[in-house]
Amino acid sequence: MNYSKFDVVVVGSGAAGLYGALCIPKGLKVALITKDMLNTGASDWAQGGIAAAISTDDSPQLHLEDTLKAGAGLCDRQAVEFLVENAADSIQSLVEMGVAFDRHQSQLSMTLEAAHSRPRVLHAADTTGRAIVATLAQQVLQRENIEVISQAFALKLWINEETGKCQGISVLKDHAITWIQASATILATGGAGQVFAQTTNPAVSTGDGVAIAWRSGAIIRDAEFVQFHPTALTVPGAPRFLISEAVRGEGAHLIDQQGRRFAFDYHPDGELAPRDVVSRAIFTHLAKTGESQVYLDLRPIEPEKIRYRFPNIIRVCQHWNVDLFTKPIPVTPAAHYWMGGIAVDTKNKTSISGLYAVGETASTGVHGANRLASNSLLECVVYASQLAKLEVDEEEKITPSETLTVTDNWVEHLELVNSIKNQLPDLMWHSAGICRTQVVLDSAIATVIEWRSQLLSLPLNQYVLNLLPQQAIEFNSVEAESQLKLYAETLNLLDIAYLILKSAAFRTESRGGHYRTDYPNTLAAWSKHTIIQGNNLSCVDI
Ligand SMILES: Cc1cc2nc3c(=O)[nH]c(=O)nc-3n(C[C@H](O)[C@H](O)[C@H](O)COP(=O)(O)OP(=O)(O)OC[C@H]3O[C@@H](n4cnc5c(N)ncnc54)[C@H](O)[C@@H]3O)c2cc1C
Repeated sequence: MNYSKFDVVVVGSGAAGLYGALCIPKGLKVALITKDMLNTGASDWAQGGIAAAISTDDSPQLHLEDTLKAGAGLCDRQAVEFLVENAADSIQSLVEMGVAFDRHQSQLSMTLEAAHSRPRVLHAADTTGRAIVATLAQQVLQRENIEVISQAFALKLWINEETGKCQGISVLKDHAITWIQASATILATGGAGQVFAQTTNPAVSTGDGVAIAWRSGAIIRDAEFVQFHPTALTVPGAPRFLISEAVRGEGAHLIDQQGRRFAFDYHPDGELAPRDVVSRAIFTHLAKTGESQVYLDLRPIEPEKIRYRFPNIIRVCQHWNVDLFTKPIPVTPAAHYWMGGIAVDTKNKTSISGLYAVGETASTGVHGANRLASNSLLECVVYASQLAKLEVDEEEKITPSETLTVTDNWVEHLELVNSIKNQLPDLMWHSAGICRTQVVLDSAIATVIEWRSQLLSLPLNQYVLNLLPQQAIEFNSVEAESQLKLYAETLNLLDIAYLILKSAAFRTESRGGHYRTDYPNTLAAWSKHTIIQGNNLSCVDI
């Protein structure tokens, strides 16, 4: 890849990046870079569906109320209004592009999910995300103004020191680091579930966009709010595969070893209570009983319905020797969705001029302290559609003054990097997981700061953090690219851990996806966003 100039660079090819790239005016030249393959990301794994109040007995107002209620007092009303009012148009656009949502006769069929007051979740069996991503990716590949650059890892923002404006990004690809110059840089790098030992997220969810933006001074908002999904498959050796909420929506029971529907001990809505409540109920119940998992019993659902609605869940469970028609699925909670992210307005603008964020990477204010199920795919599409109004300034092309050839190989440092990368998720699961306390958070912060300083002392650092936009690099060693990628991802995860821990230690109350055993109550005085910029923490009114 040559040193290049585009009008817009989009980083990430999930629902947000793909849909955003398609919405950008066709007259603009777009680079879509992605660190793995075009379809790799959480969007491709989304199962349950996408929420939209489009049936006759539903309304954007009801969707708004449900979203605000789930968000536990921290949603930005204006952002939610924007989401629910634009939902119908976004669904229409997806249908026109060719996304084949399930239908009942000619009508789009909709299911009920937890904390929704109406059945409003559109789906394509239990692989809704795959149906959306496949369609969007196909469209992207046909677009002449979009150049897809796969296996390209975004490292660092290019900030103009005089103006403070973002004018592109450095990228690691094909044994080289180059700079992509662009008038608008759009981060759509998804979530950060990999910072936790137990997660439903794919391997690419390492919070890169948030870490990159934070290091350049962008405002990060509400980082303490993490949604832990109550029901991830728990079988030795298996990844924490999500058993969708829709399964409970269709009538599955959450039971313990004795077959008791224990969730009703914790909330009158039982297994259909909000996700944080159900996750905490499982966490508490397991601590009380000393058992290691609970179970999802699908036997109350008609077998025909299970076959029609959940073919992928059947397939994955079968693969792990769980026949869900005859026995309950073992499950426990896992980190699932990060409500925190780069603070943006309804046009996806961050606090840095020229830098935009969309999708799970962004904090639009839509989810507040807790996301309503199936609102995130909707947020990706509704907010990305705003990129249709993107205006960019014509900028002069800057070419690098030097290309350095580097022969380094950092094999002797990999043990330290790998050891930090392996230990961090356990540290985070135990300190910033479902239940948090000050003393444990403070101790984890100290560990993360120490690990970070160890990483920063390694020579790899100069290529990730200290390279100047005038410098391009070519590596002679074939291992250098994978070593640098490992280093950069580990550093990003450490920065994400720092942001979550610091914000969680700061908020001395419990709300939504942030639960403090030492401050179990929700306090009116804390009806504020947490803001972190550099090392400065503060809170601002909603
Ligand atoms: C198992 C599972 C099931 C879910 N089910 C639902 C559901 O039913 N409904 C719903 O609304 N939500 C669901 N969610 C949440 C939803 O899928 C995500 O919030 C949403 O898809 C995020 O989309 P995104 O485009 O922001 O990120 P992703 O889809 O995660 O895409 C991020 C992209 O950025 C790329 N990237 C990351 N870092 C870099 C870098 N440094 N350089 C270059 N590229 C980079 C990745 O490779 C990827 O292409 C689910 C999530 C999971 C994990």
